[in-house]
Amino acid sequence: MEHIQCPNCASDRTVEWAREGGFIAVKCTPCGLIYVNPRPSAAEITEANKVGVHRTQNGKALNVSARRNAAKIGYYQRVIGELFATEHTAGHPLKWLDVGAGYGEVVEAIQSALPATDVEGIEPMRPKVEIAQARGVRVSDRSIAQTDSDYDVISLINVYSHIPDFREFGELLVSKLKSGGILFLETGNLPDLTSRADFPDTLYLPDHLVFAAPRQMESIAKSIGLAMETTKAERIDNPLWAVKQTVKSALRGKPRIVLPYTSEFRTVFYKLRKP
Ligand SMILES: [Zn+2]
Repeated sequence: MEHIQCPNCASDRTVEWAREGGFIAVKCTPCGLIYVNPRPSAAEITEANKVGVHRTQNGKALNVSARRNAAKIGYYQRVIGELFATEHTAGHPLKWLDVGAGYGEVVEAIQSALPATDVEGIEPMRPKVEIAQARGVRVSDRSIAQTDSDYDVISLINVYSHIPDFREFGELLVSKLKSGGILFLETGNLPDLTSRADFPDTLYLPDHLVFAAPRQMESIAKSIGLAMETTKAERIDNPLWAVKQTVKSALRGKPRIVLPYTSEFRTVFYKLRKP
């Protein structure tokens, strides 16, 4: 375990925000970023991301290699269709890399939303890669360093929270974009919530290590030389989600009734542009 300073502003002034599985998430007083501190060592994080299992402080293994989710394809097809309408209309084919592609659902969504796009995904967990490839979806376990350097778009869909030091990782991604290229990112807005209780689901610490909302993302983007161009927040607290969260809370032994359309939580999409 290592103690760290805020990965966004380097301050060490924090307040405790949440506890889960023996880990503590703190909120940075100056900038509002939420991050796990202390956190597992860098070597442990890399290994966990490859095999999909994290060691929790109370000794239970946390398995995060969720199943393929076909429902994601339609959802991302709509969101990407909306957010890349201009690029779609312009008609020139995009070269797109999806990082942390999982089972390839987002790669499939991009192919459907923008059929002219040359898209490939990379994913460190080998079993996910094999399932994607068996379905004919272009996903490999190449590292980012092994990919090309002329992408129009690099997407990071619900990957940001897994990255311990985004500055170094973000700079590597930026070096793989063409001038004028876009880093397309999705992550939840937990720092914008009034309190932890406003997000009824598990935080999945320490699989998730860092949480940023638009205010933090703006400075993170700037620190890696990108300009925030578009921000689109989507609610996820529909009736089905509310029922699921109610059931999950009961299964965790802390039953509560979760009502739809009452949470401040949003999943936020960002288009960050390289000059
Ligand atoms: Zn900070």
